[in-house]
Amino acid sequence: MSNTLVEKIIDLFEKNGDSEYGGEAVTQGEHALQAAHLAMEEGCAANIVVASLLHDIGHMLHALPDDAPEQGIDDLHEELGFRFVDKYFKHAVAEPVRLHVAAKRYLCAKEPEYLGRLSEPSIISLHLQGGPMTDAECRLFEQNPFYRDAVQLRRFDDLAKVPNMEVRQLGSYRTLLTGQLK
Ligand code: FE
Repeated sequence: MSNTLVEKIIDLFEKNGDSEYGGEAVTQGEHALQAAHLAMEEGCAANIVVASLLHDIGHMLHALPDDAPEQGIDDLHEELGFRFVDKYFKHAVAEPVRLHVAAKRYLCAKEPEYLGRLSEPSIISLHLQGGPMTDAECRLFEQNPFYRDAVQLRRFDDLAKVPNMEVRQLGSYRTLLTGQLK
C-alpha cells in the first residue's frame, strides 16, 4: 500500500504538476518541490518537510481553473488537501497542511511587514480566505498544537515562488514520505 500511495503521489505531480500556480512565476510542481527543499535546507523535522511538499496537493486534486481566486472563487484547496493527506499520513503532516492558509491570515495579523511581502495572487486569495485574523482568531489558532509547524510551513510556502530554483527532485523524498505514513 505505502509504495502504491507514494507512486500515486508522484503520478499526480507528473500529471498535474505543470499547472500554473495561480498567477505565480512557478508551476504547482516547482512550488511544492521548492517548499520541501527550503524545509530540508532549514533542517526541519520530517513531518514539516513532507507537509511542505504536500501542502498544496489540494490544487492538484480539483478541477477548478488555475485562476479561480481571480474569479472570486475560493477553491478551499487546504481542506481538500487535508482530507487526502489525513487519510494516509500522520496527523503531524495533515494538520499543518490544513492550517497553512490560516497561518497566512495569522501572520498578517501578527507581523505588519508580512502582508507587504506577500505576492499579489496571495493577497487576492487572502481576501477570499477571510483577511487577517482578529485577535480572538489568533488566540484560538495558537491553541492548535501544530500552529507553529503551520507557520513554519507557511514561510517556506511564501518563499517557494522562484523561477528556475535548483531543488531536490521528487523521487528523493520517497523514504521521507513513506516514513510519515500512518
Ligand atoms: Fe503554496
